[in-house]
Amino acid sequence: MEDVIGVRLTVLGSGSAGNATLLERGDQRLLIDVGLSYREAARRLDSIAVPPESVGAVVITHAHGDHTRGAALFSRRHGVPVHATPATQEVWGEANVSSWGELRCDAVNEICGFRFTPFEVSHDADAETVAFAIETPDGAIGFATDIGVVTPFVRERFRDCRLLVIESNHATDLLQVGPYPQSTKERIGSQRGHLSNESLAVFVREHLGRSVRCLVLAHLSRVNNVPEIAEMSCREALEARGRDDVRVVVSRQDRVAETVDLGSWPAPRRAGASANSQVALPFMPA
Ligand SMILES: [Zn+2]
Ligand SMILES: [Zn+2]
Repeated sequence: MEDVIGVRLTVLGSGSAGNATLLERGDQRLLIDVGLSYREAARRLDSIAVPPESVGAVVITHAHGDHTRGAALFSRRHGVPVHATPATQEVWGEANVSSWGELRCDAVNEICGFRFTPFEVSHDADAETVAFAIETPDGAIGFATDIGVVTPFVRERFRDCRLLVIESNHATDLLQVGPYPQSTKERIGSQRGHLSNESLAVFVREHLGRSVRCLVLAHLSRVNNVPEIAEMSCREALEARGRDDVRVVVSRQDRVAETVDLGSWPAPRRAGASANSQVALPFMPA
């Protein structure tokens, strides 16, 4: 009998000082962004008993330093490809990676056994910024860490996901009274900047897909947000949506977040009959 190996996602660190997320299924592993230094990314992988050399690829969302800092060295040190869109490869410029991997927008890209569909989102990188819908054997993951606005297109992409990793960058009032120059405040708060707790709450309250089992809050500002406020804002929105069954994980800048194991949830509903379905539970939430 084949072992059942769940898909696991662990945010190694997230915030404006560096982002990196581990996605794994059995011995297939990849990193989405390596915006921590190489040394720090390797240290955090070691701390959860994942040898850095077991990572098979790096996938890049966009060419901001908080997403790319350690990526080229990680690629060279371990001889793994860096998947980035052609535009991101170009503006990243001198990046000395071991090899480039393809990343085509609005198409399925097979990377380490995962099926990535990148799509462009509103954010202020020089080249495009992409979010992902990632198909896995345990259901789909939506991933958007830098996103100024959740458009109808993004909502559509995320509708059938079981896990969403999504930005909860700032509390609007803390940003307004905070120490940043007015121009920076405007950039962050704009639709090409970063998603606020409040904007995320609107998305959750009004548009959260029925399949979602877990929300991982990402890219929290250390200056303009408080993890407890971001979490409370999200939980209130879930409650208003009648979805207080959804798990909330708050990722942090300075430490590894708890691992989300998609295999620990009941199998996603598939079209047609499923195996082992003799016992039908009529009101099982989707
Ligand atoms: Zn960015
Ligand atoms: Zn960022």
